[in-house]
Amino acid sequence: MNHVKKSFDGNEVLKDISLSVEEGEVVSIIGPSGSGKSTLLRCATLLETMDDGDLYYSGDAAAKSVEQHAVYETGDKLRHIERQFGLVFQNFNLFPHFSVIKNIMDAPVRVQKRDKDEVRKEAVELLRKMGLSDRADYYPCQLSGGQKQRVSIARALAMNPKILFFDEPTSALDPELTGEILKVITELAKEKMTMVIVTHEMNFAKDVSDRMIFMDKGVIVEETTPKELFSSTNQRTREFLGKYH
Ligand code: ADP
Ligand code: MG
Repeated sequence: MNHVKKSFDGNEVLKDISLSVEEGEVVSIIGPSGSGKSTLLRCATLLETMDDGDLYYSGDAAAKSVEQHAVYETGDKLRHIERQFGLVFQNFNLFPHFSVIKNIMDAPVRVQKRDKDEVRKEAVELLRKMGLSDRADYYPCQLSGGQKQRVSIARALAMNPKILFFDEPTSALDPELTGEILKVITELAKEKMTMVIVTHEMNFAKDVSDRMIFMDKGVIVEETTPKELFSSTNQRTREFLGKYH
């Protein structure tokens, strides 16, 4: 992202944000509520349009700044870019009327038009990896929050994304279920999955991230290694991190 700006009703929520993520890198974004973290993820994943700036995926421009306006690609080119990433939200967003396996298979079969048997094999393997082999035919309402979130992660992975975005993946979970999700994300990090994670789980972020970004009031205050960030002398960073001790 280059010089990304976004306002809502005159309120500038992203103020000239530039950020890049390398293949295989795990980047966490932390910051107070309302600092623009979700808006940043939504702009990066084309769920929200930015007002100005450039957005590139693997060298392909999704949007470019023209006369201080972001001009977006359209049609097949945009769809090609959209297929490069997966998203996992706080609230799971599973289809309630689809079984677990159908939730995972739906997009690869319907959107990517892939062979159903092949997709099913991959879905079964993803469920195994998520520790949910015995839940394939359950419906979301029959699962715990942690299980639902693991299905959401499996569903995102089924699209073979090059990069996974997480927006507070454990915030809707009871503390005892948070660990199982963090463990899954840690496993993905070990497999060198490229990930951008908005989280309030500071110890997790410290352990899993190659790089951490501290956002406040629509700007990136600091962007550095976890070690450096946690020993930062920046006053805003210290104040924020201080709330977690
Ligand atoms: P965070 O994820 O860091 O808590 P958000 O990106 O959700 O922050 O929100 C940043 C600011 O933008 C907040 O003040 C929020 O109220 C505002 N905002 C976010 N989305 C919208 C929207 N769709 N319409 C109006 N204001 C919004
Ligand atoms: Mg948010």
